[in-house]
Amino acid sequence: FPAGDVEALEAEDVRLLLPAPESDDHKYTRGVVGVRAGSVRYPGAAVLAVAGASVGFAGMVRYVGAAGEQVVAAHPEVVGAGKVQAWVVGSGTDADAESHLHAAGGTPIVIDADALVHLPGAAPADAVLTPHAGELATMLGVSRDEIEARPLHHVRQAAEAYDAVVLLKGRRTLIARPDGRVRVNTTGTPWLATAGSGDVLAGLIGSLLATGMSGFDAASVGAWLHGRAAQACGDGPLVAGMLPDAIRAVVEDLFA
Ligand code: AMP
Ligand code: MG
Repeated sequence: FPAGDVEALEAEDVRLLLPAPESDDHKYTRGVVGVRAGSVRYPGAAVLAVAGASVGFAGMVRYVGAAGEQVVAAHPEVVGAGKVQAWVVGSGTDADAESHLHAAGGTPIVIDADALVHLPGAAPADAVLTPHAGELATMLGVSRDEIEARPLHHVRQAAEAYDAVVLLKGRRTLIARPDGRVRVNTTGTPWLATAGSGDVLAGLIGSLLATGMSGFDAASVGAWLHGRAAQACGDGPLVAGMLPDAIRAVVEDLFA
């Protein structure tokens, strides 16, 4: 990229942006994140999105969807519907994507996967969209090859068109604001190209958003932590379920 066109976060920037809990915090002051993900067909996406949300900085995770039984079995601390400061919608929602998207409107929101194609035009206020190149191609009505040939152009165009923060996932994840400002993520490994890793990322960003971080900061800090966690998992096959523990360890290192 041309120098000066995109910014990159360093470890120190990430540490300063993260809302470490204060001694007088309780779970509600830290923020509540709600996850609307998964379906009968894809229950695992819900479990992974909730796992990502659980190692973000919110004090509580709520889950609404068809995979409640699997989610609670894996994450007993997760509770049901109620007030949230941010929603995560889309991972593995299959045919339920559109109704989840409408139900979650009006609150800061991360929109991923199946829900992306149901956006009517401009996204809801305070939205973070997290497409990979194929999903962004569908949203913009261009080919995947065009997205991959000019990712910076297309991520900016999408942020402006949807009036939202857009995080374009891939080898070099880009995060764009509607005003054209862009960050590039410098962490990660190719082992992240594995099923479910994007679901963990969506949950993590939603959890950061619920603490009151801006969409641009939540998306770029989430991508940084997620990529650094993959690096911590080493140079070998990565399973998406390994990421949450690794994210926790990365955070611990940052604050050490
Ligand atoms: P998804 O496509 O939703 O499953 O998300 C995949 C995740 O893996 C995103 O965080 C991508 O940025 C990351 N990823 C995919 N392919 C690569 C790659 N070749 N190198 C680094 N990260 C990748
Ligand atoms: Mg995905």
